Amino acid sequence: MKVVIDPDSGFCFGVNRAIQTAENELKAGKPVYCLGEMVHNQVQMDQLKSKGLRIVMHADLYNLKGETVMIRAHGEPPETFRLAKQLGITLIDATCPIVSKLQERISESFGSGNDAEVQIVIYGKPGHAEVAGLSGNAGNKAIVVSGEDDFHLIDFSKPIRLFSQTTMDGEGYIKLAESIKQQMLAKGNTNIVIQKSVCKQVSGRAPALRAFAAEHDVILFISGKNSANGKYLFSICQQVNKQSYMVSDISDIDKNWFATARTVGISGATSTPGWLIEQVASTIKEY
Ligand code: SF4
Repeated sequence: MKVVIDPDSGFCFGVNRAIQTAENELKAGKPVYCLGEMVHNQVQMDQLKSKGLRIVMHADLYNLKGETVMIRAHGEPPETFRLAKQLGITLIDATCPIVSKLQERISESFGSGNDAEVQIVIYGKPGHAEVAGLSGNAGNKAIVVSGEDDFHLIDFSKPIRLFSQTTMDGEGYIKLAESIKQQMLAKGNTNIVIQKSVCKQVSGRAPALRAFAAEHDVILFISGKNSANGKYLFSICQQVNKQSYMVSDISDIDKNWFATARTVGISGATSTPGWLIEQVASTIKEY
């Protein structure tokens, strides 16, 4: 049985940068706190925690005066930065630069002030950490939609500035934008600006992943269960290969999946560490 690792899998640039930052800080031997789970991958988180990283929530900030707290790649709303300053907390900002840029663009659109009726609409997962940071840059007034079922939240007669959470699926975003435009046109409104804000580290992988998944008898996709891009990228594998399985780590694997397989392709989300992908590949080779 041939086992092939998808060359595009592994951490995206933003997550890699945040983890490197945490590891450098931990080497200095001081306690490092991180606001929320650094990456949607339990195996990687367990490893960082074993090196001393402590995960805290917003409410914990009030007890961390004088300490160092990391902001993860998803970013945070401006209130978090203000609160940390007030509380005398040193922040290490590991927000992905792509997310920071998007926050700036949302803030500019929100603050342009020419039209008080402008609605900032974000295609994303309500409650997701990145979405909270993005919405915070629109005075927490952004309208978050994850599909047409949420259209009742939008007033299609008013101007719209449309953005996407960086890890949403690019194809879904194009369809949603088209649908919003149609609803606006029905009301004689063409005042919409659509920003291309799906990260290429996610959307750019779709065509190559589709081809990779079609090439192999079985696909193992490694991802944390809470990863938005993991769910999206896995759905692409499933579209072209019915023998696609999503696993968090080695313990989820069932040997029976490979009974008749000649080739197995292994891929992962942008939050899946390369070492975990290698570990799964070695285990399967032993079968
Ligand atoms: S998916 Fe893109 S935007 Fe999100 S953290 Fe990774 S590199 Fe940054």
